[in-house]
Amino acid sequence: MPDDLYARGPLTVSAHGGEMSETTTETIWPKVLKQLSEKLKEGQFATWFSKTSCLEVSDDLIRVGVPNNFYYEWLTRQYAADVKVAAAEVVGRELSVVFEVVESEEDEEAVAANEADAPAPQELPPGASFGAQAGRVHSQQPVAIADPNAGRTLQLNDEYTFEHFVVGPGNRMAHAAAMAVVEQPGRIYNPLFIHGGLGLGKTHVLQGICHELMARQPGLRILYTPCEQFVNRFIAALEKGCVDLFRDQFRMLDVLVIDDVHFLANKEQSQEEFFHTFNVLYEQHKQIILSSDSAPKEIPTIEERLVSRFKWGLVCKMEKPTFETRMAIIRKKAAGQSLALPDDVVEHLAMSLKTSVREIEGAVTSLIGYCSLMNEPMTLDTARVALGDLIGSRQRRVTVDHIIALVTEHYNVKLSDLQSKKRFQSITLPRQVCMFLARKYTNHSLAEIGGYFGGRDHSTVLYATEKIEGRQKDCPKLKRSVDEISQALEA
Ligand code: ADP
Ligand code: MG
Repeated sequence: MPDDLYARGPLTVSAHGGEMSETTTETIWPKVLKQLSEKLKEGQFATWFSKTSCLEVSDDLIRVGVPNNFYYEWLTRQYAADVKVAAAEVVGRELSVVFEVVESEEDEEAVAANEADAPAPQELPPGASFGAQAGRVHSQQPVAIADPNAGRTLQLNDEYTFEHFVVGPGNRMAHAAAMAVVEQPGRIYNPLFIHGGLGLGKTHVLQGICHELMARQPGLRILYTPCEQFVNRFIAALEKGCVDLFRDQFRMLDVLVIDDVHFLANKEQSQEEFFHTFNVLYEQHKQIILSSDSAPKEIPTIEERLVSRFKWGLVCKMEKPTFETRMAIIRKKAAGQSLALPDDVVEHLAMSLKTSVREIEGAVTSLIGYCSLMNEPMTLDTARVALGDLIGSRQRRVTVDHIIALVTEHYNVKLSDLQSKKRFQSITLPRQVCMFLARKYTNHSLAEIGGYFGGRDHSTVLYATEKIEGRQKDCPKLKRSVDEISQALEA
């Protein structure tokens, strides 16, 4: 612990009333700090106490000066008891501890010199929004503690608001739940767990909640972070030996939003860390919002205790958009670029692009770009030409050979096995998965598909397709395999 901490003198010292002399007051705080430094981890101590000072020690009270409301809240909540114990050890009697925000001369000069003395962006935890609270803070700028691990600040995407979000049957429940959370964070659905395939709007909903909460309750401490960032920052904190600081930053939040929690799979230590953070926030009725590419129990190698917590609140699935929703999304995206598309163009796009909203968005942008570059009118014919490649190539690209290549690799089997008469489970399952995917992604007839796998007849292919379709519902492992291979096919 740095020596100069002890050397910091009190800002004002006025021991009124009691027997305490000025000198004793001056010497008390360094001793209290010393006690605290021995008890707390180095990072915690340096972060929270380096900017404190002793304002007064009276018979029954110790007043501690802190630089702003952020410190005030955190010290009062987390460290008041520690200070009390340390002070009692030093003065030999129990004192009440009071923290007070003080404006140092340094701060006043800085504010005068530069009104916008917000912390450097890299000092803020990613995406963090710390609203200033009413009180004796000299500046209304957000306040953050220096975080040696913080990487670049993750800003919310301005477009990801509910105003820009089209609600349809596939996302209605997630949207309604998000609205309920916005109304009463931490009270109704906690955690809110949203899952669904790629590009269906999970990140948009999560960030939409953050935007809305920030607008409604500017004082709320909200952190939005992709799970990958959470894990990377945790690892960096471990390496630098400042896990306590990392912890404090997450556990002081009012709303924690973690995107893509499936990223925790296989990362035991991060899971453990997240588990404890979850518990701390949950017990304090702080809102937790999570997203994932699959349902809690389908995330592989994630601890059961986390799975069960994910299910404590509300689990919402986001489905692919229906035809009508796709139409509405296309219109909205075009309007966002100040363009109204003709109805037949909108319909053509909505018919052709079914898998994800991200894909729809890309198509609208390409189409608008094409028309303006080529100076073409926005007609159905132009749309067909402009997007023909995009739409056609995707359908053309998936071949049975492509499917076989991915499935044999995934299940570690040989093509010759799939084509053989072998009926071991280890061979029949991948063979049936191939048939199922060939039905889904190609236009081959049942008999043609059968031909690829040792000349099996159409009823075998039909049986295989139905079986894989049905078994995915109660076999998460199979569903995951099929999803993974499908994603690779669609990539
Ligand atoms: P995910 O996180 O599920 O992979 P995103 O939230 O990143 O998906 O969404 C992909 C893109 O589609 C984003 O640009 C998002 O704004 C857009 N999007 C998704 N759903 C909708 C919707 N219902 N209305 C409008 N835009 C949407
Ligand atoms: Mg996302």
